[in-house]
This record gives sequence, structure tokens and C-alpha cells, in this order.
Amino acid sequence: MYILTVNCGSSSLKLDVIDTQTQQSVTELKAERLPEERDITLNGKTLTYSGELLFPYILTFCLEAVKKDLADKTISGIGHRVVHGGDKYYQPVLIDEQVAKTIEDLIDLAPLHNPANLSGIKAAQQVFPNLPNIAVFDTAFHQTLPSRAKHYAIDKEISKKYNIKRYGFHGTSHQYVAQKAADFLQQDIKNLRILSCHLGNGASICAIEFGRSIEVSLGMTTMEGLVMGTRSGDVDPGIVTFLQQKENWTYEQVETFLNKKSGLAGMSGFGNDMRDILQQAENGNEDARLAIQVFTHRLTKYIGAYAAVMSGVDVLLFTAGIGENSPEIRNRVCRGLEFLGIMLDDDKNKSAKLSDELDVANISDENSRVKILAIRTDEQLAIALEAQKIIEEKNKVNCIPKIPIAISARHIHLTRETVDVLFGKDYELTEYKPLSQPGQYAANETVNIVGKKNKIENVRILGPLRPKDQVEISKTDEFFLGVDAPIRESGHLDGTPGITLIGPKGTVILKEGVIIALRHIHMHPSDAELFGVKDHDIVSVEVDDEDRPLTFKNVVIRVSDKFKLEMHIDTDEGNAAEIKSGEEGVLMSCKQSVSLLAKNV
Ligand code: AMP
Repeated sequence: MYILTVNCGSSSLKLDVIDTQTQQSVTELKAERLPEERDITLNGKTLTYSGELLFPYILTFCLEAVKKDLADKTISGIGHRVVHGGDKYYQPVLIDEQVAKTIEDLIDLAPLHNPANLSGIKAAQQVFPNLPNIAVFDTAFHQTLPSRAKHYAIDKEISKKYNIKRYGFHGTSHQYVAQKAADFLQQDIKNLRILSCHLGNGASICAIEFGRSIEVSLGMTTMEGLVMGTRSGDVDPGIVTFLQQKENWTYEQVETFLNKKSGLAGMSGFGNDMRDILQQAENGNEDARLAIQVFTHRLTKYIGAYAAVMSGVDVLLFTAGIGENSPEIRNRVCRGLEFLGIMLDDDKNKSAKLSDELDVANISDENSRVKILAIRTDEQLAIALEAQKIIEEKNKVNCIPKIPIAISARHIHLTRETVDVLFGKDYELTEYKPLSQPGQYAANETVNIVGKKNKIENVRILGPLRPKDQVEISKTDEFFLGVDAPIRESGHLDGTPGITLIGPKGTVILKEGVIIALRHIHMHPSDAELFGVKDHDIVSVEVDDEDRPLTFKNVVIRVSDKFKLEMHIDTDEGNAAEIKSGEEGVLMSCKQSVSLLAKNV
């Protein structure tokens, strides 16, 4: 599959067409210093843009250039890096109007990034109108942060009002390199405590405990934590108010100061490129030396803190521009961490040269308890692979059958013993008509059921006989009869109320067995495989009625080789939703196991 990835920043654009099979880029476009710069690099060659210097026009020009370069290759979809997904997205999603609107609503939290990401989405939709667009969020991987790591210690009303909490970023990269580390070490990521140091122009460290992000140094915005190219990382918030007062700065000025004029650039005074800073430090530049010291000290401090948070560490990995390429920085960071079992092998560290052929290097000393790795990150590839998953899922869903819906009227299942009493010893039920589920039938026989308040006559018995008596009624019946029936899965009768059954030959007082049946879908194991669900999963089913589209939540899946695909809802639900037997639904999502649902019920 060919996937186009779009990484659209506020002043730069990176487009890659990735062959997901070879995991290589077949077309690469880079544009920087937008919208002023006219020179754009396409597959290593310079293209010159001659139109108006407006961001959307340049985006369209770049996308058209990639489209042309594709020649006869067909791309299957477009994966977009989206920086802020807020609380809402914990995994990549197909972009529709609602998703685009949510990304827009989150602009407050990522004022530089989300508008640029949206421009990329709009331009891609325009140039490739028929392709699916997928958003891959930088924040998504960190949705697993526990509350204690997610919250700032500030007034709870204000936190709530503005959604002020720690979201974390670089998630796509942290997740990708952590999995790479586990693969390299031939271990299950679920058995590892990983510290991932993403050290590029933006930098963050993430504690990944057993596959889940549990701490990350970037917070609500992209400013917290480590020292970065032009961003300060952690500062005493008092500095902000101090500067506002002393310099009479507006909030924009403070933001520019901390975002663009701080970090390595601010400290060195000559730029944010770590290569230059290392060079200058070697030449004796004291500012450069201090910048490196603050950079590495901050990171070492975080490694110690995050090791404490995970009660230990198994893997320490370095990635992104500085992490992948600077043995000097890796060395400085690891120095003094022997007490944590972190021991670098100097020779391996110096000679590790990551490339297309070598994307992971083990730079730990033989005796190091913690494995230290340098790993090449590849956010574009990670985005393409995530987009591929969504597209495959979408294709699967498109060829998945619709689910016929049947309305289940009130009915009764009886045991041998109860039939004996109601109809006489060894009485055999007779078939009135077969039901859709193979082997099941509606009997000619009916009984009257009597509750505390009222009785209902001629309630149909369904065959064949069962090991437990069960009376399935609707909510309306429940009120009418005066019985307090719970919503239950068929056969789960503990603690359910009883009722009186009157047949032509006798009466049975049931001690338990009255339920309102949980909505359910009968399916054959082959259907379950197709839908990607299993017995007892809870799913949502959407009925796409043009006038009244609606979703049934909490629908339990029942799988048996005796079942045929069909969803059952009761009469009340059918009436309320104006659904008749024979309409169809689409399976939307698989949610939680029925045991969880039982707790909720
Ligand atoms: P990224 O944002 O991942 O592209 O990383 C950019 C940062 O990586 C810049 O600060 C570069 O100076 C730094 N970088 C790239 N190569 C090296 C290197 N060989 N040694 C030190 N820093 C490097």
C-alpha cells in the first residue's frame, strides 16, 4: 500500500509517500521557512514556487508536485500528523467533519500546530478528493497517563474550565521507538520498563511501563520539560510574572521568549543546532558549554525521576536528531547513572552510526543491567503504518455484512418439569412456526403469566425445552405486571424475580427467571471472525435510517455454531425507535466485556 504522510508545521512541510511493504519512502518533499521561501526540495532536487507567497497556495503546489511525481502509483490514503488531540483521541482516526471540527476546537491548546495541521488536511482533501484522510495524534499515546501524572496542582475549577492538564507530545515517535526496542531485544513490550529520550529540536522523555505511557515531560503545551532547541522547558512559573512586571511584556512576548528565544538558542546566543553548540563548546565558548551542561543535566535529572516512577528501568533509548547522532550527549547523560544499572560502552557509543541499514544500535556495556539503545525514529513511517491499519479496517468494515434486526416479543422458555405441570406429564410442545435461529421454534402452546399487579394471557412458549425456566418481557410488561425485572443476558437468572405461570393443566410459581433481555446479536463463529469480535463482547450497532439515524449501545455478542446472524431487540425498543423486523444495522464498536457491563447494570 502507498500512503502519503503529511507533516504540516507552522513554517515547514514534509510530504512522504511510503510503500508500507518495503517501509521506504518513494517520494519525499520538504519545504522550510514557509511562506517566505520559494525553494522546495522534491526527491533531493529543487523546485521553485513562483506563485503568491500564501501558505495554502504553497501547500497545494507541493501536494500537486507529489501527485505528479507518483506517476502510475496509486496511493490508498493520507496520514496526517496532528499535534493536539486533547482528551478525545487515544488512537488514530479517519477524518470526517466532526474530527476536523474537534481539531479546530483544540487550537487553544496548540495555537501554532493545530491550525497548520488543519491547513494540511484541507489542502490534501482538495488535491486528492477521493482518498481517506487519517489523523495520527502526537498526544494519543499519552492518554494512558495516570491521573497523578496528568494533573497540575492548581485550582480544580480552573483546570476543568480550560482543560488544563498534561497531554504530552511526540507520542507517535515514543510509541514507535519503544516497540522497535522491544523487537530488537526480542522481548514483549509488556514486560519492559522503557525510558525513551526523544532529543530533536523539540525534546521529551517518556516513561513507558509495560507498553503504556505513564509519564512524559511535555505537558499541556509543547513547552514543559527538557531543554529544547528554542524552548526553555521547565522554568519557575514565577519567572513569567516577574518578566511581565519588569519588562512590561504582554503574554505574547512572554510566549515568544520562552518558545523561540530560549533553550539552546537562548543560552548559546548563536543558534539552536546542537552540532554547532558542541563545536563551539570544544572551541572554548563558555555559553555553549553551559547550554550543553544544562541540557544534559536536565535530562539526567528526568531519567532519575522517571526511573523512580517506574521503580526501575530495563531500557534507556535515545532517538531523534541529537539522540540518534550525538555520542557526546549520550555519554554526558549516562555518566553517573551507574547506580541505576546504566552503563554505557564508550566504543560502541562512539561507533554507533545509525542508517537505513542500521536503525537500532546497542550501546550498553556487557555488564549494564539496563539496555542502552540508539534508535532511529521515523514518524512518517509510523504515521503511514497507523493510517494503513485504519484503511484496512475501513475496507474490512465496508465488506462486512449488515446485521438483520428482529423484534423479540414477550416469550417463555420452559423446562421439562414445568411443562409437565402446566400441560401434563410428558406433554410434547408442538411447532407453530420455526424461528430464524436454527432449531428454535415458536410453539402453538401459550401460558398466562401473573404478576403482583396484573396478568398477561397467551404468552408464547419458545422451543426446544431448556435447563432453566425463563420469562422474557419488555419494560412496559414489567410495569403492567408489577415485576421488577433486571436487564440480563439470557440464562443469567441469579437474583431475578419470579412469576406465576398458569397452563391448562396446572400452575407453577417460579422463584426466579423473569428478565428483560439484553440486546444481543446472535452470530456464527465465522461472522465473529469477520467482525473481529468474540462471545460476550459489548458493541454498538448503528441503524442508518435517513430520517432518524440511531445507535444501540450495550449490545452483547453471542457466538455459537448454532447461530445465524441476527440482532434481537425487544418490542419496546422496536416501537420507540420505529424499527420493524427486517431492518438492518451496522456494527460500530467493540467496547467492553459483558462482566463490566453487568457491574454497570
Ligand atoms: P530533529 O528535530 O530530530 O531533526 O533534530 C534536530 C537536532 O538534532 C538539531 O539540534 C541538530 O543539531 C541535532 N543533530 C543532528 N545531527 C547531530 C549530530 N551529529 N550531533 C549532534 N546533534 C545533531
